[in-house]
Amino acid sequence: MARIGTVGVVGGGTMGNGIVHVFAQHGHPVILVDVSEGRVSNALGTIRKNLERQAKKGAIQEDELQEIVRRITTGTETAAVAGADLVIEAVPEKLELKAGILARLDDVIGEDAILASNTSSISITALAAKTKRPERVIGMHFMNPVPVMKLVEVIRGLQTSDAVTATVMETARELDKEPVEVNDFPGFVSNRVLMPMINEAVFCLMEGVAEAEAIDTVMKLGMNHPMGPLALADLIGLDTCLSILEVLHRDLGDDRYRPCPLLRKYVDAGWLGRKTGRGFHAY
Ligand code: NAD
Repeated sequence: MARIGTVGVVGGGTMGNGIVHVFAQHGHPVILVDVSEGRVSNALGTIRKNLERQAKKGAIQEDELQEIVRRITTGTETAAVAGADLVIEAVPEKLELKAGILARLDDVIGEDAILASNTSSISITALAAKTKRPERVIGMHFMNPVPVMKLVEVIRGLQTSDAVTATVMETARELDKEPVEVNDFPGFVSNRVLMPMINEAVFCLMEGVAEAEAIDTVMKLGMNHPMGPLALADLIGLDTCLSILEVLHRDLGDDRYRPCPLLRKYVDAGWLGRKTGRGFHAY
């Protein structure tokens, strides 16, 4: 089986910086690309802060921390990842944006390299078809926060090869994650099941069934969920939740997936959850 050495990560936001963090922590040289020096330095700042938290807890040593940071190099052009064996895109959940980036990466990376998408819901088969290597394109869906969450949902597109799937599954295990293989259908398993619940919680809020705090408390204490659905939506990002629901609604063609108008209103207002300091809760 091919072994993955250098990893490229395109997009260093909520998910991208966590993905860079875990690969660097597990010994991989990582190249992080975002649109500007400012975004890159924000991502590095978050990684450092999270590593310092791990060091404080005794999970890593101070010299290890410095070594992990040294494994990370950065760039503001996709071509910076040209030498990587595996490139993971973690840019916003927009088909056109992701398709454009994958097509560009396809031109600059080596022919044996694997292209992975961290998409939450967009068709891996459709993204793969934008490249000349559909058998080497796969979904590698990390969970938020990446350094903490065990699951990686590995999504096989229609044309993804067995060998590429095996390499990605093994790579995830080496990161101390638990990979689960699923097939390519809208929202895969994770968001096909999660987003209708979050959406229903937003309908409860909109219809005045209960306040946000109460809805979250019912689901935490009553269903034993570690977080309530509205707090979880704030963590994911309300724009991301809306994009996923739009994919489910359009691609499955069923009105049960229609995004709640209140979710849309919050996104229109720029209340995107934790990342903007305000969502269903204030931060
Ligand atoms: P985000 O908005 O926090 O970060 C996206 C980053 O991509 C930003 O830093 C942005 O500057 C960068 N970017 C935008 N265009 C770019 C380009 N052309 N080249 C390089 N970088 C570019 O988004 P996120 O929450 O990290 O989501 C990223 C992906 O991960 C999405 O597909 C999302 O659906 C998926 N995802 C999100 C979560 C979550 O909980 N937020 C969980 C799993 C998967």
